[in-house]
Amino acid sequence: MACYTIYDKDRNPVGHLCGQLGDHCAECNDLGVNLCDYPVGDGKTCDRPLCNHHALLVAPELHYCTAHAAQWQAFRDAGGVKQVLENVIPFKEKPKR
Ligand SMILES: [Zn+2]
Ligand SMILES: [Zn+2]
Repeated sequence: MACYTIYDKDRNPVGHLCGQLGDHCAECNDLGVNLCDYPVGDGKTCDRPLCNHHALLVAPELHYCTAHAAQWQAFRDAGGVKQVLENVIPFKEKPKR
């Protein structure tokens, strides 16, 4: 049977929980209630199990692990998101009358 560490909001371990509750978080000993949704090609996602603290919510229902969140933030800071949005705009324009 697996045991998990329960943390308070300041990340102090406050107790344990044991049971068949699935994978541990990839970054700590808490419950891995989320999976990293970062695309790694081939239609697959990273799928690292993550607790609520270590899963970065980048969009509703979309979580990234610590390493992939850093990659995502670097991509976003480099203007990657802006480029993606600019490429999308022509398809959203309404036809002129
Ligand atoms: Zn964690
Ligand atoms: Zn990941």
